[in-house]
Amino acid sequence: TAKEAGRDRAVWYDRTIEPSTTRGLRLANDLHRGIQNDELRLHYQPIMDLASNDIVGMEALVRWERPGVGLLNPVSFIDVAERTGQIVQLGTWVARHACEIAAGLAPRPAGPRTVSINVSARQLSDPGLVEMLTTALRETGCPPSALVVEVTETALMDDLATAATTLDTIKELGVGLDLDDFGTGYSSLLYLKHFPVDRIKIDQSFVAGLGSNWADTAIVASTIALAHSIGILAVAEGVETPHQLEQLRAMGCDFAQGFLLSRPIPPEALTDWLNEWVPESIRRAPLPKPEA
Ligand code: C2E
Ligand code: MG
Ligand code: MG
Ligand code: MG
Repeated sequence: TAKEAGRDRAVWYDRTIEPSTTRGLRLANDLHRGIQNDELRLHYQPIMDLASNDIVGMEALVRWERPGVGLLNPVSFIDVAERTGQIVQLGTWVARHACEIAAGLAPRPAGPRTVSINVSARQLSDPGLVEMLTTALRETGCPPSALVVEVTETALMDDLATAATTLDTIKELGVGLDLDDFGTGYSSLLYLKHFPVDRIKIDQSFVAGLGSNWADTAIVASTIALAHSIGILAVAEGVETPHQLEQLRAMGCDFAQGFLLSRPIPPEALTDWLNEWVPESIRRAPLPKPEA
């Protein structure tokens, strides 16, 4: 019934859902089938270089086209995927498809050079991760320099030393490394100290308060300074207003990503978006278009 469906639906947005509950098990079972049946999608969000105003990269963000439900955001299934271990199969699918897109960028004369994928703590502890990435790169013909791994800190990392060794190996392949959601996780500074990071991604919760909240403004400014002082770069996430973009520029931030530039773009619309994009469109666009 509609009532049941409605009750059911609310659950997909509950991050605390336990895979051991009936609904959690159903979600896990459906996701298992979904991965095999190619129901996952990747949408791509552009990353702009603030010095050149060029789109220099894109972040691949996973969605699930769940039959009878529609397009789900990762918040409704990543948590269960991590708890059940399905994040490993999901991550393999993501890497494979992101590498396919990244391989296609290399011959283009201009436009983005990298595709970033999100890798959670649970995936980092998987001993097959390096082999999985190497295979994805080789089988798609993607140059390692076109791939970036974003370490997402959703959970406390139990074995920092092993994670650091794994990330050193990934870096040695030539793949880039970004530290995602910086400042919100369990031990951001510890990660920065131990991992071979290229870029810090400043969490959108801090960017949101730029210019209006003194603490957020101070945190963003000092994070950019921190990045530069250790010889790496800073990316601002969740940039939504021209004012935030100008503040970030003034602070010397290196890259920006957010709805102001674009929502995550489905692959079929990507080429047109990249071809039509000019920096001036930021000022012209009255409101960002909702994601398809
Ligand atoms: P994230 O990696 O920090 O990605 C940024 C999230 O912020 C995305 O949500 C994106 O759509 C959203 N976002 C981007 N710009 C703006 C903005 O201007 N304003 C606002 N309010 N939001 C913005 P999304 O796609 O729902 O992804 C949520 C999280 O799920 C990601 O956060 C990442 O941690 C995780 N995730 C996504 N794809 C994958 C994946 O393939 N594997 C893993 N392990 N995690 C993933
Ligand atoms: Mg990310
Ligand atoms: Mg983030
Ligand atoms: Mg996040």
